[in-house]
Amino acid sequence: MSLKGKTALVTGSTSGIGLAIARALAAEGADLILNGFGEPKNIEAIRQELENTGVGAFYSPADMAKPEEIRTMVENGIRDFGGIDILVNNAGIQHVAPVEDFPPEKWDAILAINLSSAFHTVRHALPAMKQKGWGRIINIASAHALVASPYKSAYVAAKHGLLGFTKSIALETAQNNITANTICPGYVFTPLVKNQIADTARARGITEEEVINDVMLKAQWTKKFVTVEQVAGIALFLCSETAENVTGSALSVDGGWTAA
Ligand code: NAD
Repeated sequence: MSLKGKTALVTGSTSGIGLAIARALAAEGADLILNGFGEPKNIEAIRQELENTGVGAFYSPADMAKPEEIRTMVENGIRDFGGIDILVNNAGIQHVAPVEDFPPEKWDAILAINLSSAFHTVRHALPAMKQKGWGRIINIASAHALVASPYKSAYVAAKHGLLGFTKSIALETAQNNITANTICPGYVFTPLVKNQIADTARARGITEEEVINDVMLKAQWTKKFVTVEQVAGIALFLCSETAENVTGSALSVDGGWTAA
């Protein structure tokens, strides 16, 4: 598959799953708009690494909690590249706490970054996508878009919402040669997961090792963490012409978690 001539915007691509997707898309020739937080020198190293593969790689520091910054990022992308062909809504955060202790500002941030940001990127990117008559919208949801876990009320609400949102835009764009799908990973060992081990241990009153074995991998029947490359592989498939009739779908990569 060649994605040469296509432009991909991957939100939250300075780390973890988003970075793996950016690398996979660049390897197929797509120009990249990177986004996310991090040390400027680390971000520049990622940008350089991608450019060294022969694609264009640009970076937007837009905060996915801020609709105006999202608008500017997408509008600049359309201005500079003539459109965004592949839009990957990946930026996400987590907070683990019982609902009665859940800080309202964390609730608002999770809903803004994990759900509303996708609404904003899509609404600004879609007119140019429709005009070009080709597009791929890939929303990184979670097994938590399909099933719940305790102490993750905001995350579960946002990811269930993202799944519903994706289905709706899949129908709206079905006759424009645009697909919209969610990828629903189980536990992938990225900073987002590493950072919640201590909080989950505290919330459940168990050790960190018990969190890994009895909470995270308990749900995954393969007893293996998903890798970022495995998620990126599904994103690549969704960009292929073979996948033109895959739209409105939730593609699980969760070691059997949601089959049970
Ligand atoms: P990560 O922490 O490694 O990466 C998150 C990325 O989002 C980073 O680049 C970060 O800078 C960026 N980000 C966070 N807040 C932002 C903001 N306000 N504006 C712009 N960028 C922001 O996490 P990850 O595990 O790679 O998660 C990526 C996505 O995958 C998330 O949506 C997450 O919910 C989802 N997911 C992760 C797992 C997992 O087990 N790791 C499982 C299912 C779904």
